[in-house]
Amino acid sequence: MSSEAYRETRELAEGSWIGVDVGGTKIDAVLIDAEARILAELSAQTGASEGEEAVVDRIAEVIRALADAAGEHPLLGVGVGCPGQVNAADGVVRAAVNLSWFNVPLRDGLKKRLGSLPGAPEIQLANDVNALALGEYRFGVGRGARGLAYLAVGTGLGGGAIIDGKIVGGDNDFAMEVGHLSLRPEGRRCGCGMRGCPESYASGTGILSGIWEYLGEHPDSALNADVTLTMPQILKAARAGDALALKVIDEAGEMLGIVMAMCAVLLNPDLIVVGGGLGKAAADLLLPRAEASFKTRVLYPSSERVRVKLASVERAAVGAASLTMAT
Ligand SMILES: [Zn+2]
Repeated sequence: MSSEAYRETRELAEGSWIGVDVGGTKIDAVLIDAEARILAELSAQTGASEGEEAVVDRIAEVIRALADAAGEHPLLGVGVGCPGQVNAADGVVRAAVNLSWFNVPLRDGLKKRLGSLPGAPEIQLANDVNALALGEYRFGVGRGARGLAYLAVGTGLGGGAIIDGKIVGGDNDFAMEVGHLSLRPEGRRCGCGMRGCPESYASGTGILSGIWEYLGEHPDSALNADVTLTMPQILKAARAGDALALKVIDEAGEMLGIVMAMCAVLLNPDLIVVGGGLGKAAADLLLPRAEASFKTRVLYPSSERVRVKLASVERAAVGAASLTMAT
């Protein structure tokens, strides 16, 4: 091995990468090594109400602090995950509703603020669910998968996909917005303005809507006694056999299975990963229903070959850090 190649190999082994997950309320950031071991971590309030410049300032401060913490590990890249429509090619956040961001040139803003970082590390942006999907492919249950579809079941329903090690982006990195396939034109109204989107059934928002919609039909439900319904209450009621809670969970699971089937048909993945706070908290309820629904809606061999697994990488920041790692 030439001395230059040796140095490069050694640097990669000892290098570090920063990942930042910009959420609606919190900025979560990590400094990791090539094996996703956390070398340092930081979090800060997003403070979106202070405006985009203040938030970009804060993201830059967090990155700078982690770069300082890198010490002996050369910093080789910075990845930032953001909710909404994020254009990776030009580094612009086109629309992130929960940050009230529209056409924010985040990558240029960070480059301007971080120009003096040692080694001038590359900065990459991605949608947060794409970052989660990449993290799962690199470090989690998706290792070795040729095609991976990721479904994030939380307050909303997000999607991402990795094919042959690369994020499936499409024209403007807005592929896999599976929460807003208008599947039931006469169905429940979705926050996006359309009707019958999977998000209005298979998400925290969707499940709550379902409980309110069917409450009148189930006067005996334990959920009728409380006007401030929470997701843990609904899940507890479902596990105790409450008919109303089970009806809504059945609907959510069926819809999640339909989305899985669409992913299988369009992407031919070998793995579907279910993540998100609710996806994990309600996995015992949702996954068996989703898998049963999925299997009746896809042709052999997809019905037999596609594996469904729960996500194992907890933080989108870890996936974001891997955006600039060499494949
Ligand atoms: Zn929608």
